[in-house]
Amino acid sequence: MSAAHSEHRGKRRAIIIGGSMSGLFTAAFLRQTGWDADVYERSKIELVGRGAGITTHPELIEALQKSGVDLRDLGITVEKRITLDRSGRVIGEKVLPQILTSWDRLQRLMRATIDDAHYHLGHSFERVEQDGSQVLMHFAGGRRERADLLVGADGIRSSVRAQVAPEIQPIYSGYYIWRGAPKEADLDPSTRSSIFPYFAFYLPERQQVIGYPIAGLDNDLRPGHRRYNFIWYRVADAAELKEMCVDANGQQHEHSVPPPLIRGDLIARMRADASAIMPPQFLDCLRNMQPFFTPIYDFSTPQLVFGRVALVGDAASAARPHMGFGMAKAGADAQELAQMLGRHDDTDRGLAAYNRIRQPIAERIVRHGRKLGAQLGVNLQTAEDQAMWRLLQDYRAMMDWIAVPNFLAATP
Ligand SMILES: Cc1cc2nc3c(=O)[nH]c(=O)nc-3n(C[C@H](O)[C@H](O)[C@H](O)COP(=O)(O)OP(=O)(O)OC[C@H]3O[C@@H](n4cnc5c(N)ncnc54)[C@H](O)[C@@H]3O)c2cc1C
Repeated sequence: MSAAHSEHRGKRRAIIIGGSMSGLFTAAFLRQTGWDADVYERSKIELVGRGAGITTHPELIEALQKSGVDLRDLGITVEKRITLDRSGRVIGEKVLPQILTSWDRLQRLMRATIDDAHYHLGHSFERVEQDGSQVLMHFAGGRRERADLLVGADGIRSSVRAQVAPEIQPIYSGYYIWRGAPKEADLDPSTRSSIFPYFAFYLPERQQVIGYPIAGLDNDLRPGHRRYNFIWYRVADAAELKEMCVDANGQQHEHSVPPPLIRGDLIARMRADASAIMPPQFLDCLRNMQPFFTPIYDFSTPQLVFGRVALVGDAASAARPHMGFGMAKAGADAQELAQMLGRHDDTDRGLAAYNRIRQPIAERIVRHGRKLGAQLGVNLQTAEDQAMWRLLQDYRAMMDWIAVPNFLAATP
């Protein structure tokens, strides 16, 4: 029996690996086009409390709306951006209304779009076998599942991608961020009045400090109960990063260190460095938060489809976070995949169309992230890199470019 024939006998079935945002978007959109979709997530418990702030974009709002989620109380709207100097004085402003939300909020909204019968926690994907029109997945513990399609939505270190394209590895950018989310109530009244309501920048040489308000725990949006998302970009070469990844027990980690295990001497050094350069409002944030660090990686792949395996979200490509666009890309990847599979009865043609449309966009997003990263002055190889570096030394250019909506329309 031909593949196309067998497909037409019943609903087509997809298995999605990864129960975070891109997995949930993919399940929602595939179901809308008449597919059966099951999500398998390796975490044994519901995903909560990851990361912190998320800037939103029109593409993300559209994906959420089309997934059927209730967008009331999505986040906090800031009306403008400001840049501070070392003394904490505002030296620049730009009116730019934008909704800032949090990873937790988005995850909960999207998790509500799928019932428990189709969302399987505690399942770690191990490998896939393909025989043309079918995929057979193997999970840790011996479970096996058969489907017409496997979607890798399992993040930047995707084990699905590791199997179909092991040569593709995330590339370290040469910089990392210190992050945290102090509670509004713990901040000094002057911090609350001068930066809390805004998307705020402080831009010392080869560094970026950025902050914006987000909901408190349990999506608490009441004044006094919110948090401030704090991000500090700093340069570190691979050797320095390796040293940072030795935890408080002396154990070497590969990519980062769980927050409670970050060494005290590292945090003390970071605080001393901050005291020497930062405006009082951002120092106040640092004093009132548990800091953790995230090294910045990016990559893209020449193809998003490998037979009956498709990649979406961070598994497919991940840009440096200067545009705050990862969630929006996850939603748009999922939407396009489902749309193309809905448009083509022949699954392989649908997958080819998805690849044709989204792969070049993924490349553009990754390139744009690298351009914006030039502000940090790492590995500036071409005249264009140098020109970008010079342009971004002006805080007005940074306010014009960092995490702004609709950047793709302005990018070749
Ligand atoms: C510092 C930083 C700041 C960011 N800021 C923003 C922002 O402001 N706005 C924005 O839109 N985006 C932002 N992003 C990007 C955004 O967080 C990601 O693009 C988004 O989370 C990608 O979602 P995902 O579902 O593709 O992957 P992930 O969220 O990484 O989820 C992958 C899931 O797969 C599961 N998994 C992995 N392996 C297996 C396996 N073998 N079997 C089963 N399950 C598995 C994992 O447990 C995980 O739940 C930021 C990223 C970083 C690093």
